[in-house]
Amino acid sequence: MNNSIFYMPTKIITEKNAIKNHSAALCQLGKRTLIITGKNSSKNNGSLQDLVEALQSLNIFYMIFDDVEENPSMETVEKITALGRENNIDFLIGLGGGSPIDAAKAAAVLIKNPSSSIEDLTLSPMLASLPLVAIPTTAGTGTEVTPYAILTNHKVQTKHGIAQKVFPILAFLDASYLMSTPKDVTINTAVDALCHLIEGYLSANANIFSDGLAEKGLKLFGECINEIEKDALDFNMRETLLLTSCIAGIVITQAGTSLPHGMGYALTYNKGVPHGKATGVFLKSYMNFCSDKAKVKNILNLLNFNTLDDFGDFLQRALGEHIALSDEELYSFASAMSNNKAKLKSHPSPVTADDILDIYRSSIGRI
Ligand code: NAP
Ligand code: ZN
Repeated sequence: MNNSIFYMPTKIITEKNAIKNHSAALCQLGKRTLIITGKNSSKNNGSLQDLVEALQSLNIFYMIFDDVEENPSMETVEKITALGRENNIDFLIGLGGGSPIDAAKAAAVLIKNPSSSIEDLTLSPMLASLPLVAIPTTAGTGTEVTPYAILTNHKVQTKHGIAQKVFPILAFLDASYLMSTPKDVTINTAVDALCHLIEGYLSANANIFSDGLAEKGLKLFGECINEIEKDALDFNMRETLLLTSCIAGIVITQAGTSLPHGMGYALTYNKGVPHGKATGVFLKSYMNFCSDKAKVKNILNLLNFNTLDDFGDFLQRALGEHIALSDEELYSFASAMSNNKAKLKSHPSPVTADDILDIYRSSIGRI
């Protein structure tokens, strides 16, 4: 009953000006680096400039790939890989939201293994990776402390994780870079962290360590809820959310995600719904479905909600416009979820195709 494994090898530095104050840690990783980032936000929030200045002061050669799209594709990873291989990169730095950091993780595997191809990301789990530093600028995915990298695979028309485990070696958490995050990104990413806490807490793989962290994360999230809704997060609140997201990342590293994440991938791939919203829309119905009512009650208490309906109302207000699917889409997405063995395994009891359809039906509107 108490069997457990806990492994988390990432050094996490949480501090204002963390890059500047702790840049010496980068010297141990090599002389040549590739920064992987999104198109705009890291230029606008000052993080890219801080990083470049730190690398220049350390005489570390750097290149910048700043074309990672949301929900990064295999094709983008191939472009980064080519750049890294051509320039004999020693380590990578993923800067931005989950998308650039995940793309950096996948490329870190392929650059380390020059004879491997993009297909090996799904076929060859044992491949090692180059060292990777993660600097998250969203408070949501927790990818800075997880071994997962989620990519869009157009060949199979969905998103899925790579087979390798790539833990960042170092993570810098500086909430200054999140101060001007637009409301929709703040909410969607915060709800992603909330899903990680709840799915991890209710997972078949939860253990004493992940539960302790999940409970702390839920309590911290509960302290931020009013300000998240009002879009009134000051530095301390942003930092609390960034830490909550990081804690939630550690939780899913131990316990994994389950049905809401598995069901959300189809909404993101086919309907363009942002990851956090695509997952969060299923939370209320999933919690209603879970048989461990004591844990569900504990989640609501820690978040300061009296009832599951109150929690559902919060999610509905926060996530905004309802998502609607046709009958055909609903059956097709539910059927894909019924074949997602990894996510089904995270749920503590057997899940039928009808259960999945019920969760879709009660969470999503109809066209
Ligand atoms: P994201 O896709 O990385 O970024 C979403 C948007 O936010 C982009 O437009 C980005 O702009 C912008 N943005 C990022 N930081 C910002 C800031 N500080 N201020 C203003 N705008 C900012 O979003 P995400 O939710 O962090 O990542 C989602 C991805 O992570 C999904 O693919 C999801 O499946 C994956 N994920 C991974 C894990 C894991 O463990 N590996 C866990 C959960 C989710 P730019 O493009 O201009 O940067
Ligand atoms: Zn997620």
